[in-house]
Amino acid sequence: MRLSSPPAALKPRYDVIVIGSGYGGGVTASRLARAGKRVAVLERGREIPTGEFPARFPELRAQMQVTGARVKIGPSTGLYDVRFGEHMHVLVGCGVGGGSLINAGVALRPDPRVFADPVWPRVLSSDPRLDEGYARAKAWLRPQVDPNARSHSKLKVLHAASEALGVAPEPAEIVVSFSDTISAGGIAQPACTRCGDCVGGCNVGAKNTVALTYLPDAVRHGAEIFAPVRVRDIVKTAQGWSVTLDPDHVKGESLPVSLEAEMIVLAAGTLGSTEILLRARARGLPVSDRLGTRFSANGDIIAFGYGAKSTVNAIGVGHPSKTDFVTGAAVSGQIQITDPDDLAHSLTIQEGAMPSALAPVLPVLFIPNGRLLGAVQSLISGVYKGPFAGLQTFFAVSHDSASGRLVLANDRLEIAWPGAQDEPVYARLDKALESLVTRAGGKYVKNPLSGTMMGHQPATAHPLGGCGIGEDADSGVIDHKGRVFDPSAGASAVHRGLYVIDGSVMPRSLGVNPLLTITALAERALMHMGDDLGFAADATIAA
Ligand SMILES: Cc1cc2nc3c(=O)[nH]c(=O)nc-3n(C[C@H](O)[C@H](O)[C@H](O)COP(=O)(O)OP(=O)(O)OC[C@H]3O[C@@H](n4cnc5c(N)ncnc54)[C@H](O)[C@@H]3O)c2cc1C
Ligand code: SF4
Repeated sequence: MRLSSPPAALKPRYDVIVIGSGYGGGVTASRLARAGKRVAVLERGREIPTGEFPARFPELRAQMQVTGARVKIGPSTGLYDVRFGEHMHVLVGCGVGGGSLINAGVALRPDPRVFADPVWPRVLSSDPRLDEGYARAKAWLRPQVDPNARSHSKLKVLHAASEALGVAPEPAEIVVSFSDTISAGGIAQPACTRCGDCVGGCNVGAKNTVALTYLPDAVRHGAEIFAPVRVRDIVKTAQGWSVTLDPDHVKGESLPVSLEAEMIVLAAGTLGSTEILLRARARGLPVSDRLGTRFSANGDIIAFGYGAKSTVNAIGVGHPSKTDFVTGAAVSGQIQITDPDDLAHSLTIQEGAMPSALAPVLPVLFIPNGRLLGAVQSLISGVYKGPFAGLQTFFAVSHDSASGRLVLANDRLEIAWPGAQDEPVYARLDKALESLVTRAGGKYVKNPLSGTMMGHQPATAHPLGGCGIGEDADSGVIDHKGRVFDPSAGASAVHRGLYVIDGSVMPRSLGVNPLLTITALAERALMHMGDDLGFAADATIAA
């Protein structure tokens, strides 16, 4: 099922314009289309049908966009959007389906102490609709554990090494289908082949992405998705809102300059939604001065162990498979350490897998760290047999202080967080990971590219915050329903018809992978929006 239409098909006015097509945008588009609204979803990335995600390195490289103060490489529609920052680097997804296209699909609910933090308005943390939001998110994304998880080498090796931490790993809930099925969005899905390529993009169609769940549902109910279309700015008008498009985003596309709508939902992710609101504020839209603050990296890192004594098989094998073994999904299992006295010390460590398209270059990536001999050996024998068969990949998540700030510099979004690399979470994660790797007989490699053009800054794939939920404009950018505060009309006043619904609304770190909470809060926001605007936020799944 083709989801998107070309930008040339855009009409001048809609009831609702949703900017971005990740979890927040997908939920919003589905619920509002079901309510009979004329919905347009604008997505800066392209639609990538199942089977067309990069399978080889040249394809992967062609889908990389890398930007920073002094660097701009690759197409602005590239699926893997890497932002180099002076204080922190970020990786986000760009395409119809957003980050869901390239994530590992781990779906976890945070420790209850996260929502007990008074940073959240009480009306949200005590709302029964928070549970209902999680229930709906789970019904639509279907997290489950791989019934074969414990047979995968990478989880076995983590299990053996876990003695070092005294907590055994358990299979992780991931949004992947392990038998042939029909998705909640009505799309036929084959069973997962356990190829390990989830973070490159699932070419089987077994990962329950937004593109296979909420977006097809939205389209079936009349929503239109336009891609690639990048929004630059939003302007308040007498009739509602106007959206300014970026004419230079894709060469040769004929685009209208602007579109009109009664309502706008910013769902462009932490970086995208904050950037658009910062630009709108710079042009005069009254927005809280909390905008851009409370940026969190969710205490998230990717790290490696090199040279484990046992075979780990943590490199994807592709589809069709390049080998005679399976890797398992990008994450099969995890160690969860809960500190009952200090939430900030709780952490989750997942055994990960690198996508097969990266296989040919993995040895090269490790050369700067002095593992030249192993790298050369692997280049000769292939990464599935040589020392790289013992490469461990870890995705670790915990808590940081959420004291980063998103700012516009020369019209470009930047993360200002001078003390980021000294956040205590990184030392704690390094200690835990190093002990696991040492127990497995390997050497801890925090970041193989450290000291190259990547510098020594931390990197995250879980950017959160910037448009945080608060009690009023003095403490947040939006209220608990997602409505943007209008400080010019009073601390609790909101702009009519302007919402933010995505990862940027989190006022703190979650300490677990965020997709389930982003989706749950989106489902909850839509229930409240339905009450306020007189529609039912229908979430029933066709049998
Ligand atoms: C490699 C990787 C692995 C991950 N693994 C996990 C995991 O296992 N579990 C988990 O919970 N989370 C994981 N995450 C994080 C998770 O995917 C994100 O937190 C989530 O996708 C954010 O959802 P969102 O709705 O906020 O925005 P996104 O999913 O980022 O969607 C925002 C969309 O808006 C579009 N957009 C941005 N700016 C504009 C603009 N100006 N105009 C038009 N469109 C725009 C973007 O292209 C994007 O498609 C991972 C992320 C990555 C990159
Ligand atoms: S392991 Fe392979 S088939 Fe399974 S969800 Fe991940 S990419 Fe898709």
